[in-house]
Amino acid sequence: MTNIEHPENDEKYTGLTVNSGVEQPPIVNPYMTRRRRKPLPSVGEMVEGILKGDVTMLSRAVTLVESLSQEHQTIAQEIIEKCLPHSGNSRRIGITGVPGAGKSTSIDTFGLHVLKSGGKLAVLAIDPSSERTKGSILGDKTRMEKLSVHPCAFIRPSPSAGSLGGVARKTRETIVLCEAAGYNNIFVETVGVGQSETAVHSMVDFFLLIQLAGTGDELQGIKRGIMEMADGIVINKADGDNIDRARLAQAQFRSALHLFPPTLSGWMPEVLCYSGYYEIGIAEVWEMINRYFDFVIKNGHFERKRQEQARYWMYETINEQLRNHFYNDADVEALLADREQRVLDNRQSSFTAARDVLDFYFKKL
Ligand code: GDP
Repeated sequence: MTNIEHPENDEKYTGLTVNSGVEQPPIVNPYMTRRRRKPLPSVGEMVEGILKGDVTMLSRAVTLVESLSQEHQTIAQEIIEKCLPHSGNSRRIGITGVPGAGKSTSIDTFGLHVLKSGGKLAVLAIDPSSERTKGSILGDKTRMEKLSVHPCAFIRPSPSAGSLGGVARKTRETIVLCEAAGYNNIFVETVGVGQSETAVHSMVDFFLLIQLAGTGDELQGIKRGIMEMADGIVINKADGDNIDRARLAQAQFRSALHLFPPTLSGWMPEVLCYSGYYEIGIAEVWEMINRYFDFVIKNGHFERKRQEQARYWMYETINEQLRNHFYNDADVEALLADREQRVLDNRQSSFTAARDVLDFYFKKL
């Protein structure tokens, strides 16, 4: 996922960037010993800690989920299996919007609103750009000032390494751990520009699209697919002299939504205006989300969708592992390079070249 349109990814971007840093001088203090890593608790201890809501244990387990080490992955899977029976009891809400739409400000405000009525909230993120920047621009604690100091909120930035599929799988597994730890509200944030929405959509119950008004033709530039996925569209920054423009955008979105085919859930997506910063219309947005949950729980769509998602992730995991096994094989890699050159030189067709490599791989298994 390198083709994501992020202002931060633009060569000409002059805002905050991550520098590679300077090399550290050697340690001169003879009494200094390297900090030893804390030994890993056993799977049983971790699971027990998670079920008790111990945030340190939860964080350590999430780190294992995100780890690239095979050994850590094995432990992580054991923990997940044990947490699975205690998961599922949450509202999973996906939140998307282009950079600057006000996702972090809104999550901060919505989050506090949700926590007012008790319970716990986990904020996770899927940020495909982090592969390039090696650092996540989403889910950063400092972006959500109020929530980050709330004792009932758990904020975790996007896992950074791997393909979008891999990153998304890790977030999906983190949801299981958070639910087992008693987080009954889960927000999954993503940047509204690429395929990451599809990944988030496949792990949440409700998908919220944050839009802005006052940018000219409101509907331009929004991928139809993203609008079709949305269960609710909210127009942020409906404050000050922006209110009229927000109302206009609301009307435009409402009429555009009428042109879309009915949703699988039978729910008609709603369009609301609010201001995340000035905290206007927050309760209304949350009420809309509650109405959605009541509606889909009653008509059975909620359960069906969760089952469908569980199946989707089973196949996604198989696909990801098969792909990794194939592409990580050194012999396959060498043969691929050779066949690719032949295809480029017009000496072999794409199909026979692909068949050569696949035949070789299957024989090798
Ligand atoms: P993100 O990139 O989608 O996470 O967006 P941010 O939450 O960082 O917001 C981008 C900018 O919009 C910041 O300067 C915010 O202060 C501003 N902003 C966010 N929400 C509102 C709002 O409701 N009203 C106004 N006027 N500004 C807002």
